[in-house]
Amino acid sequence: MRFADTIKRGMATLTGTSLTLVQNTRLSPNLAQIRFEGAIQAADWNPGDKLKLNVAGVLRSYTPSQWQDGALQILFHLHGQGPAAQWAAQAQVGETVSFIGPAKSLPPAQASDWHLLIGDPTTVGLFQALHQSARAPCHGVVELAPEDAPALDALGLPLKAVAQDGALEWISDWQPPSGPGDVVLSGEADRVRAWRDALLAQGLDKRWIRLKPYWSRRGKARRKAVEREMKGA
Ligand SMILES: Cc1cc2nc3c(=O)[nH]c(=O)nc-3n(C[C@H](O)[C@H](O)[C@H](O)COP(=O)(O)OP(=O)(O)OC[C@H]3O[C@@H](n4cnc5c(N)ncnc54)[C@H](O)[C@@H]3O)c2cc1C
Repeated sequence: MRFADTIKRGMATLTGTSLTLVQNTRLSPNLAQIRFEGAIQAADWNPGDKLKLNVAGVLRSYTPSQWQDGALQILFHLHGQGPAAQWAAQAQVGETVSFIGPAKSLPPAQASDWHLLIGDPTTVGLFQALHQSARAPCHGVVELAPEDAPALDALGLPLKAVAQDGALEWISDWQPPSGPGDVVLSGEADRVRAWRDALLAQGLDKRWIRLKPYWSRRGKARRKAVEREMKGA
């Protein structure tokens, strides 16, 4: 375990809120919807906020898709490579986990006439939370494996599944609706940057874009570097 993970795990043990897993539903082959119950208050959370979940001996960031007094839900991408994803793939009812948070992740939304959401399997839960709280119509795309595409309909999300690396092509045909917009880009760091660059090249107002890289094919340091670079740009 990395030193930073060891320290964070210690903090979670000291300060984390304990949750009990009450349901683990496989929405599609690579997406698990896990429901936890515990002493939590809905007033503590806003859609888009993240948690640091203490599972399988590591701390990892996740975004509740729903949060009510006493219960919350998280959608895990079962990517198969890391301890948290492997834990979610086989976690059983009755297991307990702790978390730190919630904490802000995305910048706050501005008033808008529409929302454009672009992401990948790690952002389906984020998009469910944003869609359920949206005051304007949502549209957009999620890069998903074909076998996971039905999960969007199952969750009632008005989003289209496109193939991995398919969002850029979709963006090239996209026409913004009229009025001010809110554009949320999240998922793999270099993809998020490519989507942002493509939208800016099409003349989208930079102030409408909110983005948050969730992971990187090239590791955590790369995710943070891309995030810093985009904040400065
Ligand atoms: C603010 C925030 C909120 C997030 N919310 C969610 C969420 O709600 N649901 C969700 O599923 N994820 C979410 N993520 C992403 C999640 O934290 C990462 O995918 C995390 O790396 C998973 O931990 P792990 O232990 O499974 O893999 P790690 O041990 O972190 O990584 C192991 C290997 O797998 C690779 N990897 C990591 N994630 C993926 C992936 N998704 N696909 C393919 N390869 C991957 C890494 O590059 C590394 O090589 C969020 C991330 C952030 C920063």
